[in-house]
Formats: sequence, structure tokens, C-alpha cells
Amino acid sequence: MSMNDDEIVNAAGLNGEKVRMKDKELVISKIKKIKEAGSNKLQIITDFDRTVSKHHDNGKPTLSSYCVFEQIPTLPSEFTEGAQNLYNRFRVIEDDPNMSIADKIPYMEEWWSLNEKLFIGLPYEPEKIAQAVVDSGVKLRNHAEECFKILNEKGIPVLVFSAGLGHVVTAILKHYDILYDNVKVISNFFKVVDGTIVEFEGQPMNVYNKNQHAIENCDYFKALSEKTNVLVMGDSLGDSNMAEGVPEGGTILKIGFLSVHIDDYLPQYLDLFDIVLLDDQTMDVFKGILKVVLKSYAIEESNSLLRRIGKRDRLEQGSPNFLVHRPHRDLLNPAGRIDTSFLRTMVCGGKKKQSCSIYDTSVVQ
Ligand SMILES: [Mg+2]
Repeated sequence: MSMNDDEIVNAAGLNGEKVRMKDKELVISKIKKIKEAGSNKLQIITDFDRTVSKHHDNGKPTLSSYCVFEQIPTLPSEFTEGAQNLYNRFRVIEDDPNMSIADKIPYMEEWWSLNEKLFIGLPYEPEKIAQAVVDSGVKLRNHAEECFKILNEKGIPVLVFSAGLGHVVTAILKHYDILYDNVKVISNFFKVVDGTIVEFEGQPMNVYNKNQHAIENCDYFKALSEKTNVLVMGDSLGDSNMAEGVPEGGTILKIGFLSVHIDDYLPQYLDLFDIVLLDDQTMDVFKGILKVVLKSYAIEESNSLLRRIGKRDRLEQGSPNFLVHRPHRDLLNPAGRIDTSFLRTMVCGGKKKQSCSIYDTSVVQ
């Protein structure tokens, strides 16, 4: 069943009050193209700080990966004070809605080069980073864990492309149990020699040179060269460039989270992102889009499951209940038997009511 435009808008939550789009028709047509091409053609590229994590939670700003690192209580004061001074000096520039990206880049590069010097000589202590993650209470967007789980179950590659601290980003993903095999982190990782940080691996990445890093990491994108459709998520204007390493020819749908200086930034965000979400601290829209683009695959997979258990009947597109998206393993009870109540709901609720008894005693081989 192909969805009409209204169904797509509703399912993806695009009619929400926090959603802005410069060209709604284009967004719908991109979603349709991605859906039609199938999950084999899809990959995800997302920023981490304030994109996978929240911008704020209960009125409190969420700490960035960098700030989480600063929570380690045994860091020398030269580091913490130095980092704070740099933050105070450069963060206002990074955030300034009246400065162009081109004008900001030299400042961001200076910030990171001064930053790198502060890290040199610090001990690398992964257990303290893990503890700082716990202590900082860094919060992920609502439904972020669920989205990562769906993407893992569907085998869709996720690139977490972060200008923060790679070791901390990784620790946060591990803390929330979402550092799945299909998730790759490209970020600023420490180079460690004998337990001491000696520099960063490669050129430091800041929020405005991700496009350059995307091109440098072409091996990652080459390995995924068939996956030319991309859902991109970010909260910074520079994040809109993250898919530049992806081979051309596909459809790229960009979602931008805008939580501060909303009026000042909105026109620029609308130029660079297909969908702009105003002070939305959830992944509802992303999850809704996933639901739409992966929907037909829920049916395909159910059918392949039914084929495996030797049933000739197929769930058909057009059955009103195939909206339910559940992974294979959810269809099985602990004894490896099909959860018939789920299949029954899916089949009996629709036009194929007469077929439901077929599935009652199925056993997966
Ligand atoms: Mg960010």
C-alpha cells in the first residue's frame, strides 16, 4: 500500500507545532523516495552533542561530551581553568547568529588547537570517563534508544559524527547500551601512549569542518557506497554538511534541531535542513520518519518469516494493521514459538481474518 501525502505527514509527525519546513512537498517526496528504495539503500549520519543527547532537560542544559570530560574530579586545575577560559572566549563565537560560518572557522580551529595543548600529558583513564558519564547525568533525546535499537535490528548503518570527544561520546553510547555493531563513531579521539594522552588522532574536528572530515573518511563511505539514501540529524549549521562523503545520486533528508536563538537562526536552518525542529528535545520526528520508510519492510520480513515456517499465506500490503512494526525476535516467545497473539492482531485485524488460525501453533524451525 502506498501512503498518501497526508498519511506520511501524520505518521512522521510533520504537522507538529515545533516542525518547520521550507518546502513540505520536497520533504514528502524525499521520504517517498527513501521508502521506495528500501532499507538496503539507507544509512544514518548523526551529530552527537545536543542531537543524540538533549539540548536541555527540565530547564537544565545537557552537558556536551567535552563538558562531561571536565567532570572528572582528578583533573588538574590548569586543565579545567584553561578549558573554561577557552569555552568562555570561543563559545559565543560558535553560537553567534550574526557571523558567517566562513568567519567562524578560523576561531574554531584556534579553539581546538589550544584545546589540544591542554589535553597533552593528561592520563587516559577510561573508568574515570565512564564515571563522569554517570555523574553528569547526560540525557539522550526521548526515543533515541528506541531509534538506535530499530536501526540495529534493521541492520542500517549509523555514523555518529561528532566534533566532541570521541572517547566520551563512545562512553555515553555504551552507558545507554546503544553502541551496537552498526554504529560507528568518527570524532576527536585521543592518541594514547603508555596511558598518557599525547595528541588527538588526525586533524581536530570542529562543528564547521565536518565536511572536510567526511571526505577524509571516505573509506567508511566507500564501504557503504550502495547506501546512497541518508537521514542526517544535527543541531549545528555545520552538521548539514555531514553527508558530503556519501556518493551522489541518492536522496538526503536533513533534520536540524534548533533550540537557541531560534528567531535569528531559523532562516539559515531552513536553508540548510529540510526539517527544522524548534526546541524539540525528542526524536519523535526521526522515529516517525523511520516508521514510514521502514514500514514496507516490516511486511517483507513478516512474509519471509512466514515463508521460513512453511506457510503459503502472506501478509499483504493493504492490511490496515501492518502499521505495527516489530522485529523478528519480538515475534518469538522464550520457547522459540511464534507469539501468535501478535500475528493474530496483525492478520485478524485486517482483511485476512479467515487466515488467522493458520498461525496458532506455528513453530520456528
Ligand atoms: Mg551538536
